[in-house]
Amino acid sequence: MIKTTSDNATDHAAVAAENDFRLLRHFATVSLVAFVVVAVLLGYVFRMLSVDALINGYQSEHINHARILSNELWDAHFGPLVQSVADLPAEQLARATQIPALHQKVIKLLEGTRIYKIKVYDLQGRTMYSTDLEQIGEDKSDNAGVLGGLRGLNSSELVHQNQLSSFEGELQDRDVIESYIPRYDPLTGKVSGVFEIYRDATTVLAQVGQRQWLLVAAVVALLAMLYLAVFIIVKRAQDKIIAQHQERQIDQQALALSEERWKFALEGAGDGVWDRNLQTGEVVFSRRFMEIHGFAAHEPEHQAEAWQARIHPDDLARIEADRLAYLAGDKATYANERRMQSRDGRWKWILSRGMVVSRDAQGNPLRMIGTHTDITERHEREEALRLASTVILTMDEATLVTNQHNVILSVNPAFTVITGYSPSEAIGRDPKLLASGTHSAMFYQAMWEQLASSGHWHGEICNRRKNGELYIEWLSIKQVRDAQGAPSHYVAVFSDISERKASEARMQQLAHFDVLTGLPNRALFGDRLRQAIAKARRDKTRLALMFIDIDKFKPVNDGLGHHVGDLLLKEVAQRLADCVRRESDTVARIGGDEFVVMLPEMATVQSATLVAQKILAALSRPFDIVAQQIHISASIGIAFSPEHGADEHALLQNADAAMYQAKNNGRNQLYVAPMPS
Ligand code: GH3
Ligand code: MG
Repeated sequence: MIKTTSDNATDHAAVAAENDFRLLRHFATVSLVAFVVVAVLLGYVFRMLSVDALINGYQSEHINHARILSNELWDAHFGPLVQSVADLPAEQLARATQIPALHQKVIKLLEGTRIYKIKVYDLQGRTMYSTDLEQIGEDKSDNAGVLGGLRGLNSSELVHQNQLSSFEGELQDRDVIESYIPRYDPLTGKVSGVFEIYRDATTVLAQVGQRQWLLVAAVVALLAMLYLAVFIIVKRAQDKIIAQHQERQIDQQALALSEERWKFALEGAGDGVWDRNLQTGEVVFSRRFMEIHGFAAHEPEHQAEAWQARIHPDDLARIEADRLAYLAGDKATYANERRMQSRDGRWKWILSRGMVVSRDAQGNPLRMIGTHTDITERHEREEALRLASTVILTMDEATLVTNQHNVILSVNPAFTVITGYSPSEAIGRDPKLLASGTHSAMFYQAMWEQLASSGHWHGEICNRRKNGELYIEWLSIKQVRDAQGAPSHYVAVFSDISERKASEARMQQLAHFDVLTGLPNRALFGDRLRQAIAKARRDKTRLALMFIDIDKFKPVNDGLGHHVGDLLLKEVAQRLADCVRRESDTVARIGGDEFVVMLPEMATVQSATLVAQKILAALSRPFDIVAQQIHISASIGIAFSPEHGADEHALLQNADAAMYQAKNNGRNQLYVAPMPS
């Protein structure tokens, strides 16, 4: 088959399905990554919030501490310190005399608070005091926390310090929360200085970090479970889709296979296959289709119009009507016979059959598949059969067909005309129905033997009509054999030849016998004489020929009429026949009043003479004709074979001459041709 567009569509579908499945796999990876990212982000947010809460919590604690420190120390220590050192240069602040006592008090207050450093700044931003005594006097007027505190703002921040000196000693690698807390003068309510408080947050932060990782782990675990559930669901869905896809593929393969099979079957049966797209008009043909129409497979005409032009113009309207009737649902099948012109110009009879194999959602036909069968031979056969059947129906000869058991299967109209039996009276009977009973059993046996050996028989046969009348038929019987060579039927053809036989007999009579007397005529007598002479020669016997002429016959005619003359001639013939032996002797009339008698095996002249005298006597008796008595006589000449003639002509001539001699001798007598000495 030439590849169709639907095959391509199937390929595309398969590729698309594979892409779908690959997409699903990508989706699985991407979703896993997304889950992990979400978990990490959640952990990070958790940490940020935890740290913020920690800083805020510590800040409020630091405010309280600053208030306590301020209550405990400001009036007694920091207030006087600030006033006394207000005018001192920064580098001398550390040497103020109040510092050691102050430092003792501060250390005491801070013990157990986990605050390990505090600093106090004056309104100029100078470090008035620090638990790290070395820092006293430092100018921090540019520090944002200090500046904020001087403006009345609390602020805290988490910082990491690699090295930190506290009143408890040197500390390494610490996370620290430092807060700047403004100190308000209780009398004026104005900011009078700023506390900076350090607190270690390393342990707490480590705990937060641990919790953060626990959270991340928990979220990852939860999401992993969720992912697993989703994955299982998606996997199952995917398995189902794959299974469905495979099923569809198997179905399509099975469909393609079954299409191949029926196409193969149709091609094997000699049919050509066509496959038409009803919307585009495109048609696809099988190799056999092209072959039927005389095309090679590589030169296809793919448009319906080209094929339309090959249809005989007289058949077009009928085909179109069939097609419309089928598509409208008026006909269950689309099938029609039409003439189509092959590539070489020859016309072929084609049987076209088809059916719609696919429709759109509205039921409109989309595709039709069908076959072309070359039925040219069948058409020619049918035509020949029609002709043969017309011949059989109209011919004058009767036909009769029997099966191998000699049971009549069919007869034609001429059969009924000849025999008088209607088809219903004859069919199912044996042809014996027609038997006349005039033929012996042996006759029929010989007929069957010849039929069996040569397959045919013909001859004349006398049969009986339904009305009992006998008739003669010329019968020809032929044996028909089946494909295996066994006799299957007999076909008999016969004509009624009764009339022909009768007219033939009449002709025979006219040709060989005298119409008036019924005696053999000159021609027949000549034959018999020739045969008798030959026989006599073989048998070495003598044959006598008598030539008889009636004396003075003319006057009978003239006096009594020609009619009476005829009757007299008939009577003479009768008397002559009565004078001879019927089985061996022949009497004939060979002229007007001339008769001949042939006497075989006449050994002697005497015996012939005796017969002649007997004849003369018989003719001398008066004839009673039409109430008239007529007296006649005759002259007889006798000649013998072999003495007077080696053939019939010579013998007749000699007998005639002898008869003339008798006439000359005075009539009413016989004359024997003299024997050679
Ligand atoms: P002859 O004694 O010499 O024989 O004299 P004939 O009168 O018999 O004369 P011939 O034998 O020569 O002639 C025979 C006559 O017979 C002549 C003819 O008129 C007559 N004839 C010939 N054929 C027929 C026939 O068929 N019917 C009748 N009625 N007469 C015939
Ligand atoms: Mg005569």
